[in-house]
Amino acid sequence: MAAHQEKKLAEERKHQNMQNDTKASQGQWGRAWEVDWFSLASILFLLMFAPLIVYYFIMSCDQYQCSLTDPLLDLLTGNKHLSDIWNRTPTLTYRAAGIYALWVTFQVVLYMSIPDFCHKFLPGYVGGVQEGAVTPAGVVNKYEINGLQAWIITHVLWFANASCFHFFSPTIIFDNWIPLLWCANILGYAVSTFAMIKGYFFPTNAKDCKFTGNFFYDYMMGIEFNPRIGKWFDFKLFFNGRPGIVAWTLINLSFAAKQQELYGEVTNSMILVNVLQGIYVLDFFWNEAWYLKTIDICHDHFGWYLGWGDCVWLPYLYTLQGLYLVYHPVQLCTAHAVGVLMLGLLGYFIFRMTNHQKDLFRRTNGNCRIWGKKPEYIECSYVSVDGTKYYSKLMTSGFWGWARHFNYTGDLMGSLAYCLACGFEHILPYFYIVYMTILLTHRCIRDEHRCCSKYGKDWKRYTAAVPYRLLPGIF
Ligand code: NDP
Repeated sequence: MAAHQEKKLAEERKHQNMQNDTKASQGQWGRAWEVDWFSLASILFLLMFAPLIVYYFIMSCDQYQCSLTDPLLDLLTGNKHLSDIWNRTPTLTYRAAGIYALWVTFQVVLYMSIPDFCHKFLPGYVGGVQEGAVTPAGVVNKYEINGLQAWIITHVLWFANASCFHFFSPTIIFDNWIPLLWCANILGYAVSTFAMIKGYFFPTNAKDCKFTGNFFYDYMMGIEFNPRIGKWFDFKLFFNGRPGIVAWTLINLSFAAKQQELYGEVTNSMILVNVLQGIYVLDFFWNEAWYLKTIDICHDHFGWYLGWGDCVWLPYLYTLQGLYLVYHPVQLCTAHAVGVLMLGLLGYFIFRMTNHQKDLFRRTNGNCRIWGKKPEYIECSYVSVDGTKYYSKLMTSGFWGWARHFNYTGDLMGSLAYCLACGFEHILPYFYIVYMTILLTHRCIRDEHRCCSKYGKDWKRYTAAVPYRLLPGIF
């Protein structure tokens, strides 16, 4: 009898602990509930200035041959007024609106109407219906992974047009670059505003919504975790991958076509940028199922940060190197070109292998080999909103034993290679490495804050075992 009572008491204590854990997780696992002043100031800064930054970069190429200082000097010395610059900026055109509407509609059709067939004939490719990670509310979403197929169909049509049909010029994107910017902004703001309204009035999963009570924070960082229309139209998967990332390689191809049209040749720097960024984009679609387990899909809510960022920031600022090379065709010497290629490929190798090691480790629950050995790991646990306790593992072998985010280090090496491909004449192409360093360092800190809330003392054991973030021995 006493033993029975003791068991009951122990069970009650366990339940109580679980509820306490749940409260902590509910409050901190994922987006912040309470918005501090620094976050609010950063958000207001980005909401006000990020669209201006994009405009400034694109305008400086259009009007000042990609000089970032000349527009400022012109304004400061009174040589020009803001209105002079603005009046010379191309406006929204019916043609651009038509191209953009057709583009987005085409990507929606590819996403929604053609179930993946690539996984049926490409060995090793994971496509079709796949499951995402467990959300804080304990939901596991299903996704139709067909991005590779969308990318292939789009590019086959692009090349078919360029070589046979000639319905439109391959320079079409460059030729309408600023009018298309206005279209991308309209979509970016429309989708972010719609997501906010949807979060309040008809969320897909109310338990996964987060309301901080701060309008600007909610608008920027999102309320809904996985907003959907119907069963399959997932905002995060669609907007992050297409139309932004499918467009990335097309934009670069259009810039290469413009170089050919203007100078009668495509420089080796433009080829390097097209090839290295092409590998990165193709890698993204080949591993789209893996992408379901990354921070964007697993942890970020869908707001302006993802909605506007995917529509405007990504296609316009990730392609600055190609744009720059249209205005400044750089022909690199062989040693420089080979150096850039090596750095880009090494960065890609580290990025891919590190991500692959974690993916393999998590998929097999640690029953795999990393660098020929059984992986070492730290056992950890966490609790979802409904109080269910889950178990997980944090690997300390392979690249994950070198640093806690060595995948970011590889990504940064690749990013630096794109910039170095543009030579050393201007700073504009180097914006990308500066931005990526800020983005990924901030992401490290953000992710670690979340993991610490999620895993508690287990996370501390992990950081003791792997003390560095990006560069072993340094940071
Ligand atoms: P990660 O793929 O590194 O995912 C971080 C998550 O992995 C953590 O939240 C944790 O999730 C889990 N995790 C952390 N440490 C371990 C470990 N030791 N063992 C097992 N699991 C672990 O980060 P991202 O999603 O940010 O990035 C994915 C890739 O995308 C990166 O290579 C990055 O460079 C790239 N990227 C590129 C961007 C671009 O704009 N070009 C932007 C953002 C990312 P859990 O809660 O499941 O434990």
